[in-house]
Amino acid sequence: MDKLQIASFTGAELVALADERLPKGRGAARAIYRRALRESRFEPDAHGLSELGVAAWSERFALDLPRVVRKAEEETDLGPTAKLVLALHDGLECEAVVLPMGRERTTLCISSQVGCKMGCTFCETARMGLLRHMTTAEIIGQILRVRAEGYAVNNVVFMGMGEALDNADAVIQAVRVITDPAGMALGQERVTVCTVGRIDGIKKLAQAGFRRLNLSISLNAPDDALRASIMPIARTVSLSQLQAALIEYRPRENFAVGVNYCLLPGINDSAEHAAGIASFCEPLGRVMVNLIPYNPGGAPLTRAPEEDEIERFIGQLREHGLPVRRRITKGRSVMAACGQLGNVELRRKRRLPTSPGAEPSAD
Ligand code: SF4
Repeated sequence: MDKLQIASFTGAELVALADERLPKGRGAARAIYRRALRESRFEPDAHGLSELGVAAWSERFALDLPRVVRKAEEETDLGPTAKLVLALHDGLECEAVVLPMGRERTTLCISSQVGCKMGCTFCETARMGLLRHMTTAEIIGQILRVRAEGYAVNNVVFMGMGEALDNADAVIQAVRVITDPAGMALGQERVTVCTVGRIDGIKKLAQAGFRRLNLSISLNAPDDALRASIMPIARTVSLSQLQAALIEYRPRENFAVGVNYCLLPGINDSAEHAAGIASFCEPLGRVMVNLIPYNPGGAPLTRAPEEDEIERFIGQLREHGLPVRRRITKGRSVMAACGQLGNVELRRKRRLPTSPGAEPSAD
């Protein structure tokens, strides 16, 4: 019998499952859940249960965390940036990045898929293709493992490997788990889901009813032709369709959508592009433009923008009245900056079973 992964569930769900499936030891469900989600530990014998109760929990439930394969750190003014390569149960790997934000706050950038099928030309992960979706337990496992390695996690962003809303059901359940007061208890305002513009996923997110969750979209080009040349999703989802979906997505009165823009010198950094971004944002109400200077990876699309090019573009956006936040490029030397996640070597593992009968899927 496959064990149920505790990190797949909210506290209430675990209590209900314990009631339904355990002959003994049900009463410890809340305490077991809290310890698992807050301390990354599953210790059924630490809650005063009888031997039968401990055995019942151990037979039916587990908290399998990914293993750290590699860890690279880079010192920054705000503290260490760390990229952790984590092995999942089938030998495939995902990546999580710890980003110091100052004042002892830390953001963890997590993956939702192994690889990605979206094919954005500026992105290292795209070169892997999609190997498989991650489960909710695997998504949560990244946070638990990173905490177990001694890093604080105050904010979570779904901007690691994968398109979060291509795996919407697992990601939505992960948001429920992350924000459940019975366990991890991060406020919804501390979690950001990022998408290239999966309108079906945005609708699912709206139905899930997270009122304080942050949503950001990767814009990267303000016209359909340019966007389609660097982001294949734009061939099927036009900017006006994306705009309409965002106008509809109103989880709360003062909601501000994040508009991420990876600055690619010579490609999307002209004054016309800045004006185009302003037109795109105009009907959206409150927005925050997050400007991400391009980080060249293994097969660079262009060079990194110079400091004065970044400043000039930010100035142009502000002249159009847009609030702009520049993402500090942390972790470039450990390939942990935006667009740099992804291990091309992993593509080879797609056809290499890690144990007899364990063929990694490539859906
Ligand atoms: S930028 Fe995001 S959606 Fe696009 S290929 Fe990379 S991981 Fe996928």
